[in-house]
Amino acid sequence: MPKDRSELPPVEELLTAAVTGLGGVERPGQVKMAQAVGDAIESEEHLAVQAGTGTGKSLAYLVPAIRHAAESGDAVVVSTATIALQRQLVDRDLPRLADALESLLPHRPEFAILKGRRNYLCRHKMAAGMPEDEDDQLFDPREVSATGRMVQRIQDWANETETGDRDEIVPGVSDQAWRQFSVTARECLGAQRCPSGADCFAELARERAGEADVVVTNHALLAIDAMEDFAVLPEHDVVVVDEAHELVDRVTSVVTGELSESTVSLAVRRAGRLIEQGVADRLQEAGEDLRALLAVAPPGRVDTLPQSLGMTLALVRDAAFACITALGPRNKDKDDPENAGLRKAAFTALDEVHDTAQRMLDAFGPASGGDGAGDDEDMDSAGSPDSASSRDSASSGGANGGGTDVRSEEVHRAEVVWLEEGRGRIPPTLRVAPLSVGGMLRDKLFGDRTVVLTSATLALGGTFDSLSRQWGLRAGEWTGLDVGSPFDHPRRGILYVATHLPQPGRDGLPEAYVDEIAELIEAAGGRTLGLFSSMRAAKAATEALRERLDVPLLCQGDDSTSQLVKQFAGDPATCLFGTLSLWQGVDVPGPSLTLVIIDRIPFPRPDDPLASARQRHVAATGGNGFMAVAATHAALLLAQGAGRLLRSMDDRGVVAVLDPRLATARYSGFLLNSLPPFWRTTDPAKVRDALRRLTADA
Ligand code: SF4
Repeated sequence: MPKDRSELPPVEELLTAAVTGLGGVERPGQVKMAQAVGDAIESEEHLAVQAGTGTGKSLAYLVPAIRHAAESGDAVVVSTATIALQRQLVDRDLPRLADALESLLPHRPEFAILKGRRNYLCRHKMAAGMPEDEDDQLFDPREVSATGRMVQRIQDWANETETGDRDEIVPGVSDQAWRQFSVTARECLGAQRCPSGADCFAELARERAGEADVVVTNHALLAIDAMEDFAVLPEHDVVVVDEAHELVDRVTSVVTGELSESTVSLAVRRAGRLIEQGVADRLQEAGEDLRALLAVAPPGRVDTLPQSLGMTLALVRDAAFACITALGPRNKDKDDPENAGLRKAAFTALDEVHDTAQRMLDAFGPASGGDGAGDDEDMDSAGSPDSASSRDSASSGGANGGGTDVRSEEVHRAEVVWLEEGRGRIPPTLRVAPLSVGGMLRDKLFGDRTVVLTSATLALGGTFDSLSRQWGLRAGEWTGLDVGSPFDHPRRGILYVATHLPQPGRDGLPEAYVDEIAELIEAAGGRTLGLFSSMRAAKAATEALRERLDVPLLCQGDDSTSQLVKQFAGDPATCLFGTLSLWQGVDVPGPSLTLVIIDRIPFPRPDDPLASARQRHVAATGGNGFMAVAATHAALLLAQGAGRLLRSMDDRGVVAVLDPRLATARYSGFLLNSLPPFWRTTDPAKVRDALRRLTADA
């Protein structure tokens, strides 16, 4: 074991030891990637690496990351999009890697997992120092008793747990039950002031992370750490973002604000116990106005601010501000430790309501919202003829508000507001999100650390340009590397595009598609993963084909997705149909998955408010909105979907895309260049023959 950091073996030697220790074989792409990651860390230059399935990319970044941690004494942060990958790293890869490398490093590599604060049990809230948030009147009695049982389970588990990590509770508990025992980072009192601070689970997890060489976290926490004023992750100068194709969506979710009757009611319940009733009532009334307005408003993007909405948002904002003022100075908690938790929770909910209402008003330009001081002048300006209503008239000149004024507004617009329909007991909700998170990522994430981004799918249309633009990286600030895949795609896989079929329409799955799917499945003897662009299409195909085919057909929603995938993997004759989570989440090597069917190019829905606003914004600033947003989105998903086919060196099969536009549309080259280099055909007879041969060999 080297005692001195300067004696550390080079990355290549450590990788050989790691691969040998784990009983694998070294692959050229893996070596190339490990060297590139080592070089990027040393030269402090951002790196994007596309590494196909089977490369062994986690070792290729973990080895140089561990070496850097041993050399610098600082932790390296590894961020993932999914819990499955987090678990794989922490439960499987890192322990084995630590065993394999221990003798070559000054100390055994230590690792830890760190999640957001709300994932840990809050001892202070548990000790009833903070309010219960749920309004039981909203729930039906069955839900209340189910929640009650979960609450009891959490309480029993709380007496035994050593980590306080919600994921330990099996079976899992609902968000509603868990919320009664957890706080967000903003609601937390801070370990210094909290009476339970010394035993706090979240703090203990942070402490463990502070001593680790590798800290595994998720994209959301990475974004919060980079963007908030307070540090969440331990000090680090290198971040590896795995599943980097998900980064923009995850960061967008973190910075999306929401406002509804529920968020306002929560703030009222929390503040109501601490302030004069009349002040809280004013917020309650503003929340009721909001509820009434949203109940009749059409869902979708809000391009121009209607006068009524502007006035209501200003009312909500000002009423929340009045409650904040009534709560008194924020540092009053020192003299009032009893109520510290209640006050912090009230401030958090009120700030959220106030800031989100203001942010929504700001999204329509400075005249819409005022400065947030909450006086009558602000309310007047929100509804004045020369603000909201004048924009209304400007927008009436063309489709999507395409008049000159709106177009120039579009160029300057930074955020988009939309209304989401209510579902069950979730009321209609207004949301606000940035049109781009690139600037934020560039300043906050890439600003003062080296970032390695990796995934099996980063080079869309054959280049990294689309994603690097979304990440906010400029030419010269980063390097891109595609280490390929160990799989022999042209010999082991066929990409079949059904050019003889009609283009997909708006009215569900065409009959010709159902016939084509049936013929393909018959030729494959089952063994089919059907990836549909909507749940409606997946269900329609399942219903139609269950009557026609002899093979078992599972559809997403019949059971939990993990259970369905298990059943599908266990029986080659079985087919599984579904939508989005299957496009990315299925890993079934072997003959059970021989055919992947994709019904249509997965463009975002035309009524997707964020995608359509982003597309329009790119167009207004002189770019090609369709290619930058819709085609990029489709290329990513198509590549992920097609990537389900070959999962091991022995796999063979067909990816069948029924949408003829993949071969005929002007943008098809971009999409095809995003896919693995399968052998291509448009001949249905050839494909069915190939499937029959594969089935006979299996
Ligand atoms: S420090 Fe924060 S999270 Fe920890 S017990 Fe106290 S309030 Fe809860």
